[in-house]
Amino acid sequence: MRALSQAARVTEHHANPMPASSLHWFRDDLRLADNPALSAAVAHGPTLFLYILDEGGSRRPLGGASRWWLSRSLAALASALEAKGSELVLMRGDPAAILPRVVETSGVDLVTWSRRYDAPSMALDSRLKADLTAAGTRVESFNAALLNEPWQVATKTGDPMKVFTPYWRAARAVGEPAAPMPAPRRMASLPLPAALAAMAVSHAELALEPTRPDWAGGLRETWTPGEAGAAARLSEFLAGPLDGYGEGRDRPDRVATSRLSPHLRFGEIGPRQIWHATRSAIESGDASAGSSDVEKFLSEVGWREFSYHLLFYNPDLATENFNRRFDAFPWRRDEPALERWQRGLTGYPIVDAGLRELWTTGWMHNRVRMITASFLIKHLLIDWRQGEDWFWDTLVDADPANNAAGWQWVAGSGADASPYYRIFNPVTQGLKFDTAGRYVRRWVPEIAGLDDSLIHEPWKADAGALRRAGIALGETYPRPIVDLDLGRKRALDALAMTRSEDAPG
Ligand SMILES: Cc1cc2nc3c(=O)[nH]c(=O)nc-3n(C[C@H](O)[C@H](O)[C@H](O)COP(=O)(O)OP(=O)(O)OC[C@H]3O[C@@H](n4cnc5c(N)ncnc54)[C@H](O)[C@@H]3O)c2cc1C
Repeated sequence: MRALSQAARVTEHHANPMPASSLHWFRDDLRLADNPALSAAVAHGPTLFLYILDEGGSRRPLGGASRWWLSRSLAALASALEAKGSELVLMRGDPAAILPRVVETSGVDLVTWSRRYDAPSMALDSRLKADLTAAGTRVESFNAALLNEPWQVATKTGDPMKVFTPYWRAARAVGEPAAPMPAPRRMASLPLPAALAAMAVSHAELALEPTRPDWAGGLRETWTPGEAGAAARLSEFLAGPLDGYGEGRDRPDRVATSRLSPHLRFGEIGPRQIWHATRSAIESGDASAGSSDVEKFLSEVGWREFSYHLLFYNPDLATENFNRRFDAFPWRRDEPALERWQRGLTGYPIVDAGLRELWTTGWMHNRVRMITASFLIKHLLIDWRQGEDWFWDTLVDADPANNAAGWQWVAGSGADASPYYRIFNPVTQGLKFDTAGRYVRRWVPEIAGLDDSLIHEPWKADAGALRRAGIALGETYPRPIVDLDLGRKRALDALAMTRSEDAPG
């Protein structure tokens, strides 16, 4: 009798196996559309949607501006999930400890995530994949962040690429990026088991936003983090600034670029979506840009791909010179100068405008990123890593690949970099790209009263012009921190010490 009922139970068990369920671990893919890992999890069965704030370990801690963005982006994601009858579970701590516990207790048989490409994240992910697989759970990872995986693009001999133009040619030859997937229509939520309830934290408990002082007012005014905000930015860009992007993208005094970078950084939109939306806006006539504007825009998205390619093959990109000859470079330690640069008090208006735009909005125009970075590295001779660190803390789009690659590009130490001897002159750059001084006047209002001819070089104004503009040079606005010619000469002398082959003949 006992044996019989046991056999019956076994049969019953086989007839009704544990229903399939899944866990999607959100990381830098905070969106529902074109998220193949999320779609795979949802297609498999009821899904537990999890985000883990990982603040320890070997991963680089997020900067302040990125924490603010993340906070808002998680709130937007939670609302989007809620609108579909699902819930975002938040936890904080070491994913290597948390994830296996959640998987085991909730009994899910599939875990999905979107790949990351910085070395500590990749190490964590492969360890977790091995552990979970060994414990009998299927783990599937997908590409949500790039048009091509870093290893899909290579030289003819199979080596990593070091120069953008051939990189982009080879990337294009891989083929048209896959069409983006729509957001899953229906999503069944798997609730967090009661036994794990104590591990969940509220959004407020993540404490990602600044309180005392609350410096995020300018960020709140400027941005709408989240998938809907990203989609709106893209539509606005395609309907307007894309037309003329090739020329306009260098003008900090205009809204002429997409400003999608922080949305891309947090995966609120993916490059496949940008690619196809751009193409179809042109084909449908919704956007009137010419092919050179479109190609230029897509190639900028290509620079992001190239940066990730570099990071994948050079995990130390943010800390080590790509070109090791720069290891001998005689950087100066000059904390007061660094601080004046950070605060936008160098006495060079376009440099100061850029750093103040960064401080207030968490973003800086690309042309001005180049000018401010060049000024720090070359005119002040301060190590690019100190600038990279400041950007990391203050940019809402602070990105492990793009920021490091951008700084090394300007320093001349990077792959396919601007040669070190190319030193941006902040006055000529200002006159060329902010001709009427609109950008400077917006961010450096204390000199706004100067004529256009003096706005980029206030030290040339005579006493009358200064008086009329209400400026007391050295008091209301600083005198130049360094003489441009002397700074330039010092930089070139330092370069000669590295015996760089890049030096002019
Ligand atoms: C010193 C320095 C630091 C930088 N740090 C970052 C960073 O931390 N995060 C970041 O996303 N970008 C960084 N960039 C690259 C670039 O400045 C920004 O991506 C761009 O200004 C973002 O504005 P946008 O979205 O309007 O760009 P758009 O001109 O609209 O370009 C579309 C997208 O292409 C990508 N892109 C554009 N230019 C570049 C570029 N030069 N390199 C790599 N990708 C590019 C971005 O993802 C951008 O959102 C840095 C550049 C420099 C010179």
